[in-house]
Amino acid sequence: MALVQHWIAGKPTTGRSDRTAPVFDPATGQQTKEVLLADAVDVDAAVAAAKDAFPAWSQTSISKRTKVLFAFRELLNQHAAEVAELITDEHGKVLSDALGEVQRGLEVVEFACGIPSLLKGDYSDNVSSDVDTFSFREPLGVVAGITPFNFPAMVPMWMFPVAIACGNTFVLKPSERDPSASIRIAELWQEAGLPDGVFNVVHGDKLAVDTLLDHEDVAAISFVGSTPIAKYIHERASANGKRVQALGGAKNHAIILPDADIDFAADHLAAAAFGSAGERCMALSAAVAVGSAADAIVAAVSDRARAVKVGAGRADGSEMGPVVTKQAQERILGLIGTGEQQGATIAVDGRDCSVEGYEDGFFVGPTVIDQVSTEMDVYNEEIFGPVLSVVRADTVDEAIALINANPYGNGTAIFTNSGEAARRFQRGVHVGMIGINVPVPVPMAFYSFGGWKASLFGDKHVHGPEGVSFYTRAKVVTARWPHVDHASDASFHFPTAK
Ligand code: NAD
Repeated sequence: MALVQHWIAGKPTTGRSDRTAPVFDPATGQQTKEVLLADAVDVDAAVAAAKDAFPAWSQTSISKRTKVLFAFRELLNQHAAEVAELITDEHGKVLSDALGEVQRGLEVVEFACGIPSLLKGDYSDNVSSDVDTFSFREPLGVVAGITPFNFPAMVPMWMFPVAIACGNTFVLKPSERDPSASIRIAELWQEAGLPDGVFNVVHGDKLAVDTLLDHEDVAAISFVGSTPIAKYIHERASANGKRVQALGGAKNHAIILPDADIDFAADHLAAAAFGSAGERCMALSAAVAVGSAADAIVAAVSDRARAVKVGAGRADGSEMGPVVTKQAQERILGLIGTGEQQGATIAVDGRDCSVEGYEDGFFVGPTVIDQVSTEMDVYNEEIFGPVLSVVRADTVDEAIALINANPYGNGTAIFTNSGEAARRFQRGVHVGMIGINVPVPVPMAFYSFGGWKASLFGDKHVHGPEGVSFYTRAKVVTARWPHVDHASDASFHFPTAK
């Protein structure tokens, strides 16, 4: 059985721990690899490698750092298909979707290639007589990223291109469910000329994570994952004096107004609910159908749900792959059952989904649940599967109020032809990322990504300008180069402008 190793100080290593976890191919349901689970000594080794690499990397000129980023961008572009295959084999998503996530990660690398402009400081001439003030930003030191299973390449790339471009060194703790893409990415960094120790990967579970959260040599933690863990990470790392950004789970609502083009809305709603088997933090999992739009959108989206080609991620023509594990499959099937028990209508039932030749795969078919109310489990739980719940509302204001009553605030969308309703929506919802006739409004790399409420703990969003701000801290210098005429103006008064 292939063993997925750590990557520390520029080479693969088995480290000290002999604990492992199985890695599955979700399409076949078979274990394909084992991944090491680090103990504290392994994490210490990764942090020590990053700490050793920091002085030289942080002092490397911005232009030399940028050259490495450009080389990495070229290599990742060349090897995108290979990274996508690793993702499909361990996550299950279809190849085109895996390629899409590599592409969105690449865009963050491209953003980070602009680091010379992004790190420019301010300069104010002669703020007081013969005194100038200027500011610049410095890297923090060793920073760590802890990432979820659902985007094994893109989510780490929300973090490390920016962190490394800013002059930090990085320890990545990827999801133990699909760990291989991060190791291939580490090899590409090395080929691009990144010095050993600047980017390290340590695989593991809670033990590895807790060691990072408590480690005195780790300056900042970026986390993406479920809300209970995000909250825990934020509390524990903050208590240890670290800078933390912890992105959590989501329940993303899409409002469909009666004036929307129903076919357009149904196409996009289906893609956003069932794409990647619903395992996207920006998946639309709740449709809020307003007034007369309801029956029409349920009928149209149900037609699309029945037509989705479910299959292995590598099989030609597959539009939707399996979910990540047997446990995830069982949990999703159980939740659909609660919807039925609690009085919702199962308009399309994906519970009996079987794919020929892949009978042991972790498949769940696209499911549409109508007449959902806000007390039901299917509404309150983040299902993280290909399940769309439809809630009905009478007005756009009622729909906005429903979104605002939800504890999450990651993404949301509206389908409408009314500019007035769209504007009321964009100003009224308490959500971080908003789509207007755009179902999955993931901001481009040069904006920052992040939700509100239980979808983000900490104040800085990832990548874009907030990413640069998160991974650096400011210095403001007030300088005078006096012409010494021996008449000193030193005073015991608090300094005021002269
Ligand atoms: P998860 O919270 O189970 O795991 C995320 C990371 O935390 C993994 O690296 C895991 O090893 C680690 N971890 C798990 N349990 C831990 C514990 N008890 N203590 C310390 N560390 C622990 O999340 P997941 O199932 O891998 O990913 C799916 C979740 O991620 C969903 O809730 C999804 O919404 C969320 N997500 C959010 C965003 C966002 O941008 N807000 C993006 C992607 C995924």
